[in-house]
Amino acid sequence: MSIDAAKAKELSNIPAGVNAASGHDKINWVISYMPILNAIKKEFETTKPFAGMRIATSIHLEAKTAYLTTVLKAGGAEVYATGCNPLSTQDDVAAALVEEGIVVHAHHGATDAVYKQDLIDTLACHPHVMIDDGGDLTSLLHGECRDFGDCLIGGCEETTTGIHRLYSRVKAGLLDFPMIDVNDADCKHLFDNRYGTGQSTLDGIMNSTNLIIAGKTVVVAGYGWCGRGLAMRAKGMGALVIVTEIDPIKAIEAVMDGFQVMPMAQAAPLGDLFVTLTGCCDVIRREHMEVMKDGVLLANSGHFDVEINKNDLQDLAVEVWERKPNIRGYRMKDGRILNLLADGRLVNLAAGNGHPAEIMDMSFAIQALSLEYMAKNGKNLAHDVIPVPVEIDRRVAAIKLASLGTGVDVLSKEQTDYMNAVV
Ligand code: NAD
Ligand code: SAH
Repeated sequence: MSIDAAKAKELSNIPAGVNAASGHDKINWVISYMPILNAIKKEFETTKPFAGMRIATSIHLEAKTAYLTTVLKAGGAEVYATGCNPLSTQDDVAAALVEEGIVVHAHHGATDAVYKQDLIDTLACHPHVMIDDGGDLTSLLHGECRDFGDCLIGGCEETTTGIHRLYSRVKAGLLDFPMIDVNDADCKHLFDNRYGTGQSTLDGIMNSTNLIIAGKTVVVAGYGWCGRGLAMRAKGMGALVIVTEIDPIKAIEAVMDGFQVMPMAQAAPLGDLFVTLTGCCDVIRREHMEVMKDGVLLANSGHFDVEINKNDLQDLAVEVWERKPNIRGYRMKDGRILNLLADGRLVNLAAGNGHPAEIMDMSFAIQALSLEYMAKNGKNLAHDVIPVPVEIDRRVAAIKLASLGTGVDVLSKEQTDYMNAVV
């Protein structure tokens, strides 16, 4: 069954009185820069891989995600969308999506309770397949929303921390359906986590603070894919970059890449801007806050709002106030002010529009094709974390390269024989 705009409006729960027109403008803008999804949409309109299926999605609800949901709808699905972070939902985009016949439950700035209810209301469609980002849908489907999973074949997970959580479940024997690891596809993490986070994190910080990066000491916590991208871009903009790590190999890599590496306790009094990108909790905590400089900026671009300990900030503060959209000041007893950006949530999505369209084109092409794979093959897959089939990764790379107007060399028979020779 296809849901039209009127039906979607009846079934959705979004804030009243929001202007959908700017949402349509945002979606139409990104469509012009997402050639891979455009090609997949065209194909889905003919092949209808999701005919008769219901799809639930929990991904940052902004323009690129909105376009993904319409691509899935073009494949014959009823799509039920919510966000994966209370601050990244853009209400005008949500309103536009409803007019496109997508059922949406999402509210920008939702309280924890409303955010959770939106997830539950989305799962109430009894999905056949789903897309999760960070593991919230997966967690509910194993707990209080178990009954909504009666038709579920499986799903796809978007991000690193969601994948860690899935492996913990598999280890405990507690994963009830197959989940495809989209994050570890090459066309996802090599570009999204690295170049996407590198650019959009700085974009969110500059957007909210209107301060310069050049000349600042920027402390990057975590030198994984995201941290590498941010360190590279901050250095390129003239910052002095310090990296903190828990993994000695990554720490050496950061040194070889030309960065200073030290424990957070040593970096804390030196930094002007701190960004966490670890997936871990309490990376910046009381003992660090106590020695930071006056006026520091604290931002997270890793996971939820756990990387910077907000309770410690609150406990240490004698005054807390909203200085400007997305900047909260915490005045310490000694008069220093520590500034928390975007409530400690993903600064690139809460204070910006997240990764650029060309990056999400690759990530969401992997999502769309992996979900098609799950819909077709999921009943025969183990209840495990499933890698993205290599053909999907190669196909997305090939379309991307062609869209850039270029290509790669092809090995001749002689070259292939040479490379494969047993000598
Ligand atoms: P990754 O596993 O490649 O890197 C994480 C790094 O953090 C590792 O090198 C690890 O050793 C280090 N680390 C862990 N705990 C630490 C601690 N307490 N202090 C210092 N370093 C620590 O993961 P990734 O792909 O770079 O993702 C990092 C986080 O960012 C994840 O939570 C992921 O879900 C999220 N993410 C966010 C965006 C975004 O749009 N902002 C994009 C992609 C991923
Ligand atoms: N939902 C959790 C987990 C981190 S989300 C949270 O909010 O803390 C990190 C993911 O966001 C990345 O894997 C990336 O693919 C995705 N992302 C980044 N920019 C995006 C955008 N513009 N639209 C949709 N998703 C985006």
